[in-house]
Amino acid sequence: MITDRFGRTINYLRLAVTDKCNLRCFYCMPQEGLNWLSRAELLSYPEMLRICSLLVRMGVEKIRITGGEPFVRKDIMPFLAEVARFDGLRRLTVTTNGVLTAPLVPELKKMGIHSVNLSLDTLDRDRFFAITYRDEHDAVMQTLEQLLHHNMEVKINAVVMEGKNTQDIIPLAALTKDLPVQVRFIEQMPFNGREAGFSGIVWNHHRILEELQLTYPAIRKLVDPPFSTAYNYQIPGHKGSIGIIAAYTRSFCGSCNRIRITAQGTLKTCLYGTGVLSIRDLFRNGLPDEEVGNALQLAIQNRERDGWQAEEKSMQKNGMHESMAEIGG
Ligand code: SAM
Ligand code: SF4
Repeated sequence: MITDRFGRTINYLRLAVTDKCNLRCFYCMPQEGLNWLSRAELLSYPEMLRICSLLVRMGVEKIRITGGEPFVRKDIMPFLAEVARFDGLRRLTVTTNGVLTAPLVPELKKMGIHSVNLSLDTLDRDRFFAITYRDEHDAVMQTLEQLLHHNMEVKINAVVMEGKNTQDIIPLAALTKDLPVQVRFIEQMPFNGREAGFSGIVWNHHRILEELQLTYPAIRKLVDPPFSTAYNYQIPGHKGSIGIIAAYTRSFCGSCNRIRITAQGTLKTCLYGTGVLSIRDLFRNGLPDEEVGNALQLAIQNRERDGWQAEEKSMQKNGMHESMAEIGG
């Protein structure tokens, strides 16, 4: 079991398998994209299998595959199938933008992936284009259909942004009436890969809830499961549920059970912090698993108390926020 100095147990890994993406969500990266990592800079598949296997042996029970867009990386499906077979791993999940995902759903289900987070900020094609700079709304909606058709557990992630999609809050929430999905409204975070362009949020979790209450005054609070980053709600009579994620106001750090590994194999012990260990370099310098495990343990032990502290240190070092595609969301 891995714990940090505040007694928090780590049992959840978020692994970014690429920094590349086929959308350009303005809150995540610049329109021209990023300085994409070369193949040699990325963790290779054998390296990713090795780190996942080591962490599962150290107590990680849940792995989420993310990116960039995971499905733009070539040969991702055999990799997922292999991770899904790990002894000791209880849950393997994926976060996707849904552009390429629809035809892959049956295979994902067959390999034992039963839960997918689908990013969808709007139900309107024009607003989708204005947010992502790509005309792919139909493809994403097809993925949603396929996921539901195959009885997958679906969480829809929507970042709430002033002037961009606040008119979508109610239509997205209304999806929960007939569909067994969780719609999660996420506070916008500063990870847009630019020096500027983020000046704090207008739509924090309180304001999102107030907006929901105007249309659904009977919306009720559910008990949040352990380690939940979302405040969970349900509209009476609706099949699905609603989550509000205080990603910017950071009210969940006290129970944080997760670590991240970026596409270039850097360990992050806090979303808001800098990378603290290059696993890729340890592997490529020939360190055996035991020593890599010790280094991981030490880095995790020393992690920051919360996202505010981690961000302060990170800004002192880097001076700007990375793109979420580099971190893995
Ligand atoms: N490309 C995949 C996708 O979009 O689902 C996976 C990676 S994406 C970085 C993971 C999640 O991070 C998405 O749900 C996305 O909406 C969210 N995200 C990206 N940038 C964000 C930001 N600046 N603030 C809040 N959420 C963000
Ligand atoms: Fe791509 Fe996901 Fe970032 Fe959008 S949020 S640009 S889909 S990585």
